[in-house]
Amino acid sequence: MSINNDTILPANFIRQIIANDLQTNKHNGKVATRFPPEPNGYLHIGHAKSICLNFGTAIENNGTCNLRFDDTNPEKESIEYMESIERDVQWLGFQWAGLHHASDYFEQLYQYAVQLIEKNLAYVDDLTAEQMRMMRGTLTEAGKESPNRHRPIADNLDLFARMRAGEFADGQYVLRAKIDMASPNINMRDPALYRIRRVHHHRTGDAWCIYPMYDYTHCISDAIEGITHSLCTLEFEDHRPLYDWVLDNIDIACHPQQIEFARLQLEYTIVSKRKLNQLVMEKHVNGWDDPRMPTIAGLRRAGFTPKAIRDFCERIGVTKQNSWIEMGVLEYCIREDLNENALRAMAVLQPLRVVITNYPDDQVENLEVSNHPQRHELGKRIVPFSKVILIEQDDFAEIPPPKYKRLIESGEVRLRGSYVIRCDEVIKDADGNIIELRCSYDTETLGKNPEGRKVKGVIHWVSEAHSQPAEIRLYSRLFTVPQPDNEDNFLDAINHDSLEVLSDCRVEASLAAASVENRYQFERTGYFCLDAVDSVAGKLVFNRTVTLRDGWVKD
Ligand code: ATP
Ligand code: MG
Repeated sequence: MSINNDTILPANFIRQIIANDLQTNKHNGKVATRFPPEPNGYLHIGHAKSICLNFGTAIENNGTCNLRFDDTNPEKESIEYMESIERDVQWLGFQWAGLHHASDYFEQLYQYAVQLIEKNLAYVDDLTAEQMRMMRGTLTEAGKESPNRHRPIADNLDLFARMRAGEFADGQYVLRAKIDMASPNINMRDPALYRIRRVHHHRTGDAWCIYPMYDYTHCISDAIEGITHSLCTLEFEDHRPLYDWVLDNIDIACHPQQIEFARLQLEYTIVSKRKLNQLVMEKHVNGWDDPRMPTIAGLRRAGFTPKAIRDFCERIGVTKQNSWIEMGVLEYCIREDLNENALRAMAVLQPLRVVITNYPDDQVENLEVSNHPQRHELGKRIVPFSKVILIEQDDFAEIPPPKYKRLIESGEVRLRGSYVIRCDEVIKDADGNIIELRCSYDTETLGKNPEGRKVKGVIHWVSEAHSQPAEIRLYSRLFTVPQPDNEDNFLDAINHDSLEVLSDCRVEASLAAASVENRYQFERTGYFCLDAVDSVAGKLVFNRTVTLRDGWVKD
């Protein structure tokens, strides 16, 4: 495990509760958590918060954390989603103690429901969903009891068995808990426990035509697994009485403690699987792993590291107050990691040809350049220098703006890791577009400024003959407003300029061997990674993970 147990972790209310429970030996000194995703989409950065919290809590306390698929809604669930979830949890650096599925418990869940019926705590109802809604009451008004509420136990047992046996149509009957139609908490007004749904399940096939509801399933699954602390998001606070009611009324020894925390809401993006699914299905993005997506798969493809995401989750903390986190916090975390760990390289995004007229025609100098300015253990690479090089179009200006330190006509600039060149002549085509610069180099300037002459500007470059063609994809935020979720239609807030594809880029020779395992800082340009899907030998594709600085400062 890549998380260091010895670091002193900041207090939060969950750490506090667990420390107290350990002190009082509440759960026999055990800490057992779980991460319970529904396999109906890919995991997103909000899930990462829950993953780090659940697995992190277990690690900090020498406990265990399970991965449990909450797979009780077969219409929307799939094997593809399950596999992506397993991959993403492991990629984040976590390993589950047990891998479980709520569907593993279908038989037990059924038997517990029979128990509730036998105790006269559940009944079979034939009201339609609409009628049930009408009778549920409101926040200020009690609900009405169903005429079926007092059906005899024997009849309920018979009907429930026949529901399971497939004798009834979808929706014809439901099993409901018998709690209190006048409860101030609407969740306690005889909630549905089972519905009839003839849907093929990706794990249990057609074995079942009745499926248990989330609230009923979740608490029992937790108890079966011996979970001690069931951490969930705030919207379940009002469901806690039901969680406890179910466990109090069935014969099960374990009673986990549900603790709620605030969901992560991240600015300029969306963390709802339903809406992310819509972005994918309607092709507003190129799949779940589109680098603009806040999914773990998207962040990975964009070049985010597990370490940066874990660091982000620790930094935002765990509280009971819903709040919005600025995208800048996530960007800060990835910059911190990449500044320290990314290999340096040179890439020219919009090339301008520079011929060094006084450089020998066939000469090539293999310059040794550090892969990282501070971390010498990351080694050096060879960067070939030759007569024709490419620089960035906007590193030359005919009419320089004030304080411009890069190349101008009759001016000098240093090529990073190489010589100082001077621009002698600007070559244009018939339309007046600059097509080439003629420059001369100073042999005395390799790696140093000669006495009394200081050249301020430094620009990056590649040797034309040695460079590799590449496509570079510049991503920016997917939405134009900080809280797209709060728009009438979040699709109206999509940023249509969130992807800029530059297809004529040239990258330095060493990047022919670039690997998806590595991250790169293209000097002065940003942090990039190889695109794991579209990049092939001979056609490199790089994704921009993040700009070098907040707000794009150039030298
Ligand atoms: P979504 O609204 O995206 O579908 P969900 O809560 O329905 O989210 P689940 O698959 O049920 O998705 O989530 C698994 C776990 O992750 C749950 O415990 C849930 O509380 C937690 N989780 C989901 N979204 C967030 C979030 N934005 N911040 C923190 N935890 C989250
Ligand atoms: Mg859910």
